[in-house]
Amino acid sequence: MTEQIQPVRGMNDVLPAQITAWQSIERAARELLGEYGYQEIRVPVLERTELFKRAIGEYTDVVEKEMYTFTDQGGESLTLRPEGTAGVMRALISNGMLRGQRHKLWCAGPMFRHERPQKGRYRQFHQISVEAVGFPGPDVDVELIALAARLWRRLGIARVRLEINSLGTAEARRAYRERLVDYLRAHHEQLDADSRRRLQGNPLRVLDSKNPEMRALIDAAPVLTDHLDAESRVHFQAVCAALEALGIPFRVNPRLVRGLDYYSRTVFEWITDALGAQDAVCSGGRYDGLISQLGGESTPGIGFAMGIERLVALLTQAGQPAAPPAADVYIVVSGERASAFGLELVEQLRDALPGRRFELNLGGGNFKAQFRRADRSGAALALILGDDELARGVAALKPLRRDAGQSESPLPDLAAAIETALAATAVHT
Ligand code: ATP
Ligand code: MG
Repeated sequence: MTEQIQPVRGMNDVLPAQITAWQSIERAARELLGEYGYQEIRVPVLERTELFKRAIGEYTDVVEKEMYTFTDQGGESLTLRPEGTAGVMRALISNGMLRGQRHKLWCAGPMFRHERPQKGRYRQFHQISVEAVGFPGPDVDVELIALAARLWRRLGIARVRLEINSLGTAEARRAYRERLVDYLRAHHEQLDADSRRRLQGNPLRVLDSKNPEMRALIDAAPVLTDHLDAESRVHFQAVCAALEALGIPFRVNPRLVRGLDYYSRTVFEWITDALGAQDAVCSGGRYDGLISQLGGESTPGIGFAMGIERLVALLTQAGQPAAPPAADVYIVVSGERASAFGLELVEQLRDALPGRRFELNLGGGNFKAQFRRADRSGAALALILGDDELARGVAALKPLRRDAGQSESPLPDLAAAIETALAATAVHT
């Protein structure tokens, strides 16, 4: 036998048995984002490598070791997007959409990071990212958080909590950075190799280390929130006060720095204790400097991204949302003429009853086999079409989910008879 082709490690198939949870998250998010005035934007999964280096920062896990980068046939260095914001901002700039305008946008799709695959951490994963551009805040910061909180409520996801922090302005971070560098230099022998490299390039990233052996050192480091500039402090206080007013519980986590360089001021993360080590389901923050860093006209921005795989895991933990039955009506055919006419009839019924799901028995089979398939389809009703019925110009209807006898309907009245029979079933269930 020919050898099978293996899937790429860390890249998953989402099978029909799992799709209901995906679709209910996507549907709920799409509806809610529309209600808050956000519009969808779709951007390529491939961008020039330079975009992510400039947006995310050279000394980040993502850029240092996680990007899928290759040179294409034209000699250009391209990268499969590791996150959504950079591409969306690039699109706003490329399409001349800034110029003092404001945008509320969302973007969904696959992201790619060469991480060590484990539960909740994959090499292809999916995000819905939400971006508000042109709003200096803090009102929009709060509204975005309220939007996420409402989404969890709609989805029935209870086990998430909110952590927030402020990173201040770039200048405030520079001042803090000096304090931090002094501290880290004084403890140089305790730093791991990653942190030593970051100490050179971007010392704040040391705080983002996932190495448990670095924990104590990081916990004792000077705290950024103590070095905020006055304006960022006021901004942050306003965010906290508004969250309290809205009754959205949160915890200020002064160690929350986020893994990407472009954040400033408000940053936040929704964390769960239900998924083990991969505990962030939604993360984001303000990126006031990003657009100008990418060559666009300076415009404030804020956004967040939710990890769909982790939300799916949360949703399925509480019991997979029930999949709707594959069909309402299963059409059983017997005899040569009836089989040929079946195709025609089911197309007529689809014309007459849009939205109804009809499954025509394909590929023949005796009555017993066909009724077994009808049962498995979840259909409420079997429509039986034999040469004998056809000769009399009728079809038989048999409810499959309740105790009721078979009835007959003249072919011209069939659509109405089906609706009546389905309505009777709905009353019984
Ligand atoms: P983590 O700390 O778990 O690595 P992150 O800070 O790198 O997350 P972001 O870049 O902010 O994550 O992405 C936003 C969300 O996307 C995360 O909160 C998470 O739910 C999800 N996510 C990030 N990386 C992965 C991955 N490799 N596999 C699955 N989901 C992911
Ligand atoms: Mg990460």
